[in-house]
Amino acid sequence: MSRLAQTHGLTDIQQEIVSTVRDFVDKEIIPVATELEHRDEYPQQIVDGLKELGLFGLMIPEEYGGLGESLLTYALCVEEIARGWMSVSGIINTHFIVAYMLKQHGTQEQKDHFLPKMALGEIRGAFSMSEPALGSDVSAITSKAVKDGDEYVLTGQKMWLTNGGTSSLVAVLVRSDEGHPEGTAPHKSMTTFLVEKEPGFGEVRPGLTIPGKIDKMGYKGVDTTELIMDGLRIPADRVLGGVTGRGFYHMMDGVEVGRVNVAARGCGVAQRAFELGVSYAQQRHTFGKPIAQHQAIQFKLAEMATKVEAAHAMMVNAARKKDSGERNDLEAGMAKYLASEYCKEVVEDAFRIHGGYGFSKEYEIERLYREAPMLLIGEGTAEIQKMIIGRRLLEEYRLQG
Ligand SMILES: Cc1cc2nc3c(=O)[nH]c(=O)nc-3n(C[C@H](O)[C@H](O)[C@H](O)COP(=O)(O)OP(=O)(O)OC[C@H]3O[C@@H](n4cnc5c(N)ncnc54)[C@H](O)[C@@H]3O)c2cc1C
Repeated sequence: MSRLAQTHGLTDIQQEIVSTVRDFVDKEIIPVATELEHRDEYPQQIVDGLKELGLFGLMIPEEYGGLGESLLTYALCVEEIARGWMSVSGIINTHFIVAYMLKQHGTQEQKDHFLPKMALGEIRGAFSMSEPALGSDVSAITSKAVKDGDEYVLTGQKMWLTNGGTSSLVAVLVRSDEGHPEGTAPHKSMTTFLVEKEPGFGEVRPGLTIPGKIDKMGYKGVDTTELIMDGLRIPADRVLGGVTGRGFYHMMDGVEVGRVNVAARGCGVAQRAFELGVSYAQQRHTFGKPIAQHQAIQFKLAEMATKVEAAHAMMVNAARKKDSGERNDLEAGMAKYLASEYCKEVVEDAFRIHGGYGFSKEYEIERLYREAPMLLIGEGTAEIQKMIIGRRLLEEYRLQG
């Protein structure tokens, strides 16, 4: 274990899980991550290893074959995985959000049907809110579901599905006017559909097309796709929770735990950047001494390490708050905001410490430099986090009288 980002008060089981994942990351992920990332290759062997470790069922209750662990344990594992390669944490994250939404909001039949196979990683989840014309403004969703007998017919285009190709279950948020009179607030006329499909690209189910992978600057290896619904027929029993009009709340609940997860990823990437920076600074000499002996570089290291510590503490606090059953939107928003901003800054400092070599694809920091920006956007941008934080603060500190 490193000196930084320690977590106090963990149970023996939590410590064992986290240290097993750390060993796996050191042996199976870090040595191959950069090469696979440069080839934009899906890390099948790593995913198989994570399945064996039970990571896909980490938070799924034991009665459904999972490990029944807390959000904190999950977040600490994500932090370790992102330290090795952020894309791998992305492969788990949408799966985890869909499993969480099922656990919290699914009907008994939906839980019995999906969760045991999700715990084994046999069914893998993706979730889909964003559309080509919107990401932050979820209330503007235009994809639609229209009731037709015992089925719904879905039409519309979705954007930016992490694991869109490799998943076999997508939680899709669409507008569903049925049962909701004209003038109903947008967030009360949205429904989450559980859409089962074949993994892969092209027409993966009648009426459902996954066109192909979006070519990205970083976060490679994991597939990110569009999703096109054209007369896609979904049975009524695949409405999450069995009731229409609750989709917006389902997704916001899912995104809240997702934010802790993105904060954890920021912590992991920042830790790795610090490790690379502090190591390089002791090897590279200028003006007759290692650059780590120049005060300017020591100051950078001090700032980086402080940011790693602060982000970790806020992420752990947000996870613990949720685990205690309390509302954590304020803490999750703050943790996600701070950890993603600090991650970008720590990565940039590690890059600067590497001098020209940081620009070479031979050095790991080049990959981290392209990965960090995604965390500023995913699960809500910095501006959206600040809106959430600001609103909550005004609720908490409302003037009396
Ligand atoms: C690699 C990747 C993977 C993703 N995976 C998924 C996924 O699995 N599922 C999914 O549903 N989505 C996914 N997304 C989409 C992601 O959630 C959105 O990109 C994000 O929410 C921002 O939405 P947008 O891109 O439409 O930006 P916009 O909403 O168009 O925002 C553009 C800019 O305007 C700012 N802005 C917007 N509204 C306001 C406001 N009211 N006040 C001030 N500033 C504002 C934003 O902060 C941003 O800077 C993914 C995105 C990426 C890049």
